[in-house]
Amino acid sequence: MTNDDAPLPMPMGWQVEAACRGVDPDLFYPDRGESTAEAKAVCRECRVTAECLAYAIETRQQFGIWGGKSERERRPLRLEHHRYGVCVACGDTFERRSQNHRACSACSKAAENARQREPRPAQGQP
Ligand code: SF4
Ligand SMILES: [Zn+2]
Repeated sequence: MTNDDAPLPMPMGWQVEAACRGVDPDLFYPDRGESTAEAKAVCRECRVTAECLAYAIETRQQFGIWGGKSERERRPLRLEHHRYGVCVACGDTFERRSQNHRACSACSKAAENARQREPRPAQGQP
């Protein structure tokens, strides 16, 4: 992979709280016809189900159990979740105020503060 098609940043914010950390990943990618019950049971104990589900929808994960839902169960949620985004700065999921809103409010605020601290170009100089 080149830098030109760099992936979305990994969602470090919520991933550290994932209940599936250390659980066999195969559980979350069952073969066709295999039970999803065990994976979903892990998700039910998870504190970041909403973030995980929003991330999977936003990044169009085609396979696996995310946020306690299979790909088929996630499909109808896609449209509804258009209002969720993955922050380009920190990778957390957040609720969008508009379609081109690309960073969470904390990162937007930080960027805005940084801009305000930049020295203004002096007026009337050659
Ligand atoms: S919701 Fe399920 S898949 Fe997502 S982080 Fe939690 S345990 Fe893992
Ligand atoms: Zn952010």
